[in-house]
Amino acid sequence: MKYVICVPDGCSDLPTDMLDGRTPLEAAHMPNLDALAARGTVGRAAVIPDGLPPGSDVGNMSILGYDPSQFHTGRSPIEAAALGLRLGEDQVAFRCNLVTVGPDGTMLDFAAGHPDNETAAQIIKAVDTELGDDTISFHPGVSYRHTMVAPAALGDVVCTPPHDITGQPMVLPAGTAAGPIGRLIEASASIVGQFETAATHIWLWGQGPQPVMTPFHQLFGRSAGLVTAVDLVRGLGVLTQIEVHEAEGATAWFDTNYENKCQVALDGLAAGLDLFLIHVEATDEAGHAGNAEEKVRALENWDSRIFPKLVEGLDAMGDWRMLVMPDHATPLDLRTHVPDPVPYLLVDSRTAGPGGVYTEAGVASAAVVPGHALMGRLLEVEASRG
Ligand SMILES: [Zn+2]
Repeated sequence: MKYVICVPDGCSDLPTDMLDGRTPLEAAHMPNLDALAARGTVGRAAVIPDGLPPGSDVGNMSILGYDPSQFHTGRSPIEAAALGLRLGEDQVAFRCNLVTVGPDGTMLDFAAGHPDNETAAQIIKAVDTELGDDTISFHPGVSYRHTMVAPAALGDVVCTPPHDITGQPMVLPAGTAAGPIGRLIEASASIVGQFETAATHIWLWGQGPQPVMTPFHQLFGRSAGLVTAVDLVRGLGVLTQIEVHEAEGATAWFDTNYENKCQVALDGLAAGLDLFLIHVEATDEAGHAGNAEEKVRALENWDSRIFPKLVEGLDAMGDWRMLVMPDHATPLDLRTHVPDPVPYLLVDSRTAGPGGVYTEAGVASAAVVPGHALMGRLLEVEASRG
């Protein structure tokens, strides 16, 4: 038996005037997905537990079968794992954005104009030289997204995600460690400002200790791999010992290579893995951009460039089961994540389900199940506490 999980990041939505009152899942032409839904089981899942932020870190943790209310310790420690950083028990990781703050203290751009990796790495290296010490270190990541590792005591602070205050006065940290964290942000200005980019400061947030996650194969008794272009999902793979495979041309953008992601999944399964997860970011980026055309196109790309070949490849290997589910909704009209339940689809090659329609309206009357429970449903096992 082979298992596949398809994650169109943030694909779930609300009816929008941009699509004549339809959602992207309703507007997209997806005959292959329609056929899968007609032979499967559709339902509604709470991928974001109450009280947790509706982020890709939380939602993808649910999809992998781990209850975020038990395992989630923050966003940055997951990204740190993707960078290969191992935190000690006495350490926390902070997300370290490069941001643009105006002369009047307004948060103008949480992404500092998306600097290229090379320039950003030079800036972070200079910040590390000037502000780092025996206990604090800065590590370059991708574009504006970097990591600071610090003593656990500095984690006792309330930080504001910079994308939540775009166009508003910047909000400095509060709480016990507000002093040192605020000083790092303020002291970064003279270092970051030496480089010819839009970046003016670092911004620290999303901190937490490294989560302790039971390896996936131990929890579910199956070997697994995943393919993604997003560090958060890669980091979840590292933390759960799910193999992280690379696909050439995977960009985390509209132009990503769908065919290669499908092929990497089929290759991983053919090489002996029991389960493979395919994550595509494009739907989420289109949601953030408020770009209905790209969101619909990203779904149609799943339908024409992944599903036919995936099903054909799975059929050739024998029996299979499939789960289709996003990690959260990113409604076009809101341009940000919301914690609403999302539609899921389960398909079994051996038996026909009741059949359904894979849209938000198609599952509106279904009972909501916890997102992390679906892994057990997909694998037809109870998670062992191993
Ligand atoms: Zn997401």
